[in-house]
Amino acid sequence: MLKIENLHARVAGKDILKGLSLELQPGQVHAIMGPNGAGKSTLGNILAGREGYEVVEGSVTFEGRNLLELEPEERAAAGVFLAFQYPVEIPGVNNTYFLRSALNAQRKARGEEELDSMQFLKRVREKLAVLHLKDELLHRAVNEGFSGGEKKRNEIFQLALLEPKLAILDETDSGLDIDALKAVAEGVNTLRSPDRAFLVITHYQRLLDYIRPDVVHVLADGRIVESGGPELALQLEQQGYAWIKERIAPEA
Ligand code: ADP
Ligand code: MG
Ligand code: MG
Repeated sequence: MLKIENLHARVAGKDILKGLSLELQPGQVHAIMGPNGAGKSTLGNILAGREGYEVVEGSVTFEGRNLLELEPEERAAAGVFLAFQYPVEIPGVNNTYFLRSALNAQRKARGEEELDSMQFLKRVREKLAVLHLKDELLHRAVNEGFSGGEKKRNEIFQLALLEPKLAILDETDSGLDIDALKAVAEGVNTLRSPDRAFLVITHYQRLLDYIRPDVVHVLADGRIVESGGPELALQLEQQGYAWIKERIAPEA
């Protein structure tokens, strides 16, 4: 589904990704962990199509298409969900309106008919029920005054509504509380399905106490230096990253 091959990328003239390769099959959940500054968010930003990230070598293929040449909207239409491509806070914009716009933009880009408000509400109710969410988030402005947990529930709700084939989440180190981590994990666990894959980039070992990934990767010094099962996350929790760092040759 997603194939990243020998990805080299530069940010602000500095080499950050140095030959990263990764393959994700439908139905799988992969976690990417690694020491601070390793390039995890850089990878997420490149997949999201953010500006300022220069790919100098390698490829990213999603279902046979070159992901890197697609605009962010085209990526969404192709079925890629990038949590962080959505605005953090939009004061004054009603969340229901925002979610409907996002969904209809995706449908339009796919050449599908837009949903009218009745159809949209039906979809909303279904997804609220699946995720055991209350509808109070819908009536507020987008993320305005939301707690960390509410923001995460809203993000997962966006994900559920957009029904992506591939969901990429970057859980950055911005002080998520346990409530927020659980919201992410419950959402991922509930929305797992045989035709949907998740790439969960995380700074938090604890998140993987709640999500059971199929594969855990360690990103260090711009490459995947170790991959394994869920036990790898436990090992990292107990031993930290020192043993990983020892394997990386010091830079010249
Ligand atoms: P991680 O998410 O693994 O902690 P990042 O991908 O955020 O790491 O950062 C990797 C390296 O790239 C760091 O050294 C960081 O300072 C640098 N970096 C990331 N984004 C930028 C940017 N926009 N401008 C300059 N340097 C950046
Ligand atoms: Mg960081
Ligand atoms: Mg990061």
